[in-house]
Amino acid sequence: QEKDYQFMLRTRSPGGFIPPQLYETLDHLADEYGNGTLRTTTRQGFQLHGILKKNLKTVLSSIIKSMGSTLGACGDLNRNVMAPPAPYCDRPEYEYAKTYANYIADLLTPQTGAYYEIWLDGEKIVSAEENPEVKAARDRNGNGTIFHEGEEPIYGKHYMPRKFKCAVTVPGDNSVDIYTQDVGLVVITNAAGELEGFNVLAGGGMGRTHRKEETFPRIADEIGYVDRADIYDLMKAIVATQRDYGDRTNRRHARMKYLIEDWGVDKFRAQVEDYFGKPLKPFKPLPPWKYQDYLGWHEQGDGKLFLGISVENGRVKDDGSFRLKAALQKIHQKFELPMLITGNHNIILYEISPKHQQQIDRLLKEHGVLPETEIDPLVRYAMACPAFPTCGLAIAESERAIPSILDRIRVLLDKVGLEQEHFVVRMTGCPNGCARPYMAELGFVGSAPDTYQVWLGGSPNQTRLAEPFMERLALCDLEAVLEPIFVGFKQNRQPSESFGDFCHRVGLDSIRTFVSNYQVN
Ligand code: SF4
Repeated sequence: QEKDYQFMLRTRSPGGFIPPQLYETLDHLADEYGNGTLRTTTRQGFQLHGILKKNLKTVLSSIIKSMGSTLGACGDLNRNVMAPPAPYCDRPEYEYAKTYANYIADLLTPQTGAYYEIWLDGEKIVSAEENPEVKAARDRNGNGTIFHEGEEPIYGKHYMPRKFKCAVTVPGDNSVDIYTQDVGLVVITNAAGELEGFNVLAGGGMGRTHRKEETFPRIADEIGYVDRADIYDLMKAIVATQRDYGDRTNRRHARMKYLIEDWGVDKFRAQVEDYFGKPLKPFKPLPPWKYQDYLGWHEQGDGKLFLGISVENGRVKDDGSFRLKAALQKIHQKFELPMLITGNHNIILYEISPKHQQQIDRLLKEHGVLPETEIDPLVRYAMACPAFPTCGLAIAESERAIPSILDRIRVLLDKVGLEQEHFVVRMTGCPNGCARPYMAELGFVGSAPDTYQVWLGGSPNQTRLAEPFMERLALCDLEAVLEPIFVGFKQNRQPSESFGDFCHRVGLDSIRTFVSNYQVN
């Protein structure tokens, strides 16, 4: 008899969009076939854990029939395309970002019918009409960007050397961690609010391997600007460059960041321009980036409201008096609201009539779900990957460990007189970096059970890489290491300087001196 293999499923949800019927289905599937919880991901999708192999077909076909998909959410191809999760109706740039996240996702969706043959026995599901521009662009050849082998015009027979991650955002909104993407697009509008084109960043990526210096996290470079009409051909040119020149012999060196690092930006840009057929225009100036999480109540711009709900560690569950899963289920049954998942694994409900605001607040309160004003900002801005027990790559705890670590950090901050302080803490159970710990002000990367590599010096708006401070911190030594650093921060910071900016300014050697010279009271 075959073993009961368990699987994880991840939704393809460009921009984090989850229609009401899909949420209802996922909620039900988690109870019926999964582990009774849902996991929001850091790429704006949902994960279901613990699906037995024998139930895969039932689960997948239910998702597809509820306007969902898992196609391309894993594998060596374009993953879920991110976009800011703010459903503003009166800010066209947000609409463009959302729309083009969908178009880029469609452009780079595998064309094989195998997915539907396997999971739906070939049944055709009525889905939204594909944008004709996207379809034409996918089928248009241009300087070798098309593969005609097999069914895949862009991926060809062998797909990409490695996973490929994209995001589309608006100037100033870094809710998508734009510098961590293989390709980041920033919508550029004119004074009338019309879409003119896109700034293009390329070559970001988080994954690395412990003790392999040739692997490293990297932030994306600004490579240029394209007009709106050229965006699909440009995306194809970038994808084709990585497809044709990315390393297919060593998976640890296969992400596009290594190609750009090895070649240099100029050579990479020249190859992209060769496929694209013309030069890229200069990158347009942008305002400073701000990290946004959209928690709490906001006006959509059309009289309706949206509500951002914090999902600690991304786990939608019922646990004692905290019953987020039950609360969301009730809200869905009553109001059938569409949902957006944020890049910080939170949830946004939108299209809310103002007359339902109080009822929803009451419902959340009755289920122990705190409003953002009552959440410690250390928790609010923290992020953790799932790790144990559901990720096969985990070497240390993450989601299950971070609540107590944040508690301990808060106690320490209080002890040293930094009661109001907060900063971005991120944790992962392995160096793959799914929760993007290398951008955190304080990052923990699992290196052995109960032991973490510590990264310091990312910025509060996620525009700068942190640096590795310590290879192995045993959790029992957390206070001994962090207390001197926090005291040094308190004594030496500049006015309103953030923890990450401080660590970056003084440098890791100074931080090490704080630790080695510290006298415990
Ligand atoms: Fe990703 Fe590693 Fe965390 Fe697994 S343990 S979710 S691979 S970072």
